[in-house]
Amino acid sequence: MNYKELADLIFPNVKNISYYEEKYPERNLEEGAIVTRFAPSPTGFVHVGGLMQCVINRQLTNQTKGVFILRIEDTDQKREIENGVAQIVNAIRDFGIEFDEGMINETESKGDYGPYKQSDRGEIYRAYAKYLIEQGRAYPCFATPEELEEMRKKQEAAKIRTGYYGVWATYRNLPVDEAAEKIKAGVPYIVRFKSMGSEDKKIRHHDVIKGNIDFPENDQDIVIIKADGLPTYHFAHAVDDHLMRVTHVIRSDEWVSSIPLHLELFKTLGFKTPKYCHYAPILKEEDGKKRKISKRKDPEAAVSFYHEEGIPAPAVCEYLMNIGNSNFESWRRANPNLDMSNFKFEINKMSVSGAIFDLVKLLDVSKNVISKYTKEKMYDEVLEWAKRYDSELENLLKNKEYSLKIFGIERGNAKPRKDISKWSDVKDAIIYMYDEEFEKQGINFEYGKINNKEEIKRILSTYLEKYFDINDDKQTWFDKMKDLSESLGYAREVKEYKQNPEKWPGHVGDISTVLRVSLTGRQNTPDLYEIMQVLGKESIQKRLNRIIES
Ligand code: GLU
Repeated sequence: MNYKELADLIFPNVKNISYYEEKYPERNLEEGAIVTRFAPSPTGFVHVGGLMQCVINRQLTNQTKGVFILRIEDTDQKREIENGVAQIVNAIRDFGIEFDEGMINETESKGDYGPYKQSDRGEIYRAYAKYLIEQGRAYPCFATPEELEEMRKKQEAAKIRTGYYGVWATYRNLPVDEAAEKIKAGVPYIVRFKSMGSEDKKIRHHDVIKGNIDFPENDQDIVIIKADGLPTYHFAHAVDDHLMRVTHVIRSDEWVSSIPLHLELFKTLGFKTPKYCHYAPILKEEDGKKRKISKRKDPEAAVSFYHEEGIPAPAVCEYLMNIGNSNFESWRRANPNLDMSNFKFEINKMSVSGAIFDLVKLLDVSKNVISKYTKEKMYDEVLEWAKRYDSELENLLKNKEYSLKIFGIERGNAKPRKDISKWSDVKDAIIYMYDEEFEKQGINFEYGKINNKEEIKRILSTYLEKYFDINDDKQTWFDKMKDLSESLGYAREVKEYKQNPEKWPGHVGDISTVLRVSLTGRQNTPDLYEIMQVLGKESIQKRLNRIIES
């Protein structure tokens, strides 16, 4: 018996690989177009590093008129959860990212290079495994789990590398006839790759991000088809990336050590190797030490965290873009109003050492993103968020007309307000604008310099009686604040007060603080004139009289 006959015995009913080579031809794309993929297991969970990969891949494929694929790697069926694919698609879509090809949900997909779920590609993998057996580069291995365990123990005791390689690869040189007999007798087996590499020899690999890396050659005879007939990840990804005509494999550098194996697989299968781009994972700093951001320890590792906090998706994407290419930040400064899609992402500028995740910085990006929203967009986004996460806020927003006015305060002008960096900040930032909620707070406010109750009452009643007119424009309002200050014996101008502070009990700023705190309960708010315009005459009178009459 020869290799060909052995291959026929193992895989009698599979197509010749030429069928697949023709079925999935080279793509007809523009020069330089990047074809890449996001290839998660269908666990439903999307890690922030995975989202970063998607942000980058989408940017690169848009930039080069390429293709971005979602491939589901479900060869390890233990990791699967119900609706895991749909959850991933939706989670990524929530960040405004769509795939060009690949799975849409558990069963449906789009694109001509599918199936896009590995468990649906069994016959394709078997065709390529058969091809390798025919070439004498794969073989059936009959080692039982006990035998393998025994072998591992011996290797550990002898302090040598563990694995199935060289002299340890017992079934590697089993004569074809003997292998065929065992198969016919029903002895269970799996299919292994026959490596021709040697641990003593070095290979040099060029990674787009990491540059040249030297490795010892692979010499492991890895499993390519498991007992359940499904491929292992290593084998499947080579076949898939080839047939999907992937040009760039962009993935986290936990896979770097697999490069020698992957290169040998691509070469033996006769495939052109894609460009490998291994980026450093996102890090966290803890007790002065850096470590990978962890699903177990860090809430911000899950993309759901950003939705729960109400950090708008574009802000998260911008921040991740910045982690990907640190020059994004200066580009953003130079182009504050351009859409992020205009930034030219460069893979080779990605960090080799890994960027630290910085929530403060993310929130800073976010407050800038939010500051550019119109009041209508603000309202829609906040309402959407509140419906899911904060029913009290949702309730406040029911009064749409009034809420829009609140969101309009210090917005849409040259220097928009920047005190909101996430939707979970909104309730606190606007609640005092609603009379009913404001009344619930009582009137035990923390005033500034002027905190004598009678003096406060005197200021407020003089204001209401002599100076308050809701129809005043901003300049008139401001001049009246000065007139009020002067009439009550305070300095009209802060400057004159500072020159002779002993001359007055305070200045116009202190008087405005009294008014601000009385109307809002806070010492720091957006522009008081704008707030008063939104509150309106009646609410202002009500709020001030409550204090005067107390
Ligand atoms: N399925 C692999 C993972 O979950 C994909 C690795 C790759 O991109 O090649 O990380």
